[in-house]
Amino acid sequence: MGPPGSGKGTQCDRLATRMGLRHLSTGELLRSEVAAGSELGRRVATTMVSGSLVPDELIVDVVLTRVAAAVGAGYLLDGFPRSSSQAHALLDGPVPPDRVIVLEVAGNELVRRMLARAAIEGRADDTAEIIAHRLAVYRESVLPVVEILAARGPVTRIDAGRAPDVVAAEITAALETE
Ligand code: ADP
Repeated sequence: MGPPGSGKGTQCDRLATRMGLRHLSTGELLRSEVAAGSELGRRVATTMVSGSLVPDELIVDVVLTRVAAAVGAGYLLDGFPRSSSQAHALLDGPVPPDRVIVLEVAGNELVRRMLARAAIEGRADDTAEIIAHRLAVYRESVLPVVEILAARGPVTRIDAGRAPDVVAAEITAALETE
């Protein structure tokens, strides 16, 4: 878990490679559906560009199917759950998560990182106005989900305002000690 720009994708890529887990990024999944012009992609495109959350009914089954398929390898969810109904679907589903890691970064640093990323990747939702909206969506809709997860299992909060190597080392240490 973590706000946009907190480094979820970067850290998940590393962790997935190192631990042999399947990296399931809902943002990447939805962007590839949009790029492919699938029916799902067509239904979510406008919402994604606006920086709001896509409707639960369009994402929950897709994610749970992939989680179930990753049962042997283990999975790393990036960008899910983002609403209370997504959280309950995951917790009550066939393979609930063992651990929750929350990456915490100050708002001004998040904006700086996302504007820098926009210059490189040109993501349609990395403009100043939409970034502000995505941060508000995180604070208002996604942060309460952390509390739902915390009621059901261990949650580790990491200061992710530091260099990627430092953050990765701290995530690894947290996974090994708790
Ligand atoms: P960010 O970098 O803002 O965390 P992601 O790449 O994870 O963004 O997701 C991009 C967009 O995809 C979100 O702004 C939202 O529109 C949609 N999205 C991704 N995951 C979910 C989800 N679990 N529920 C609803 N919408 C989602």
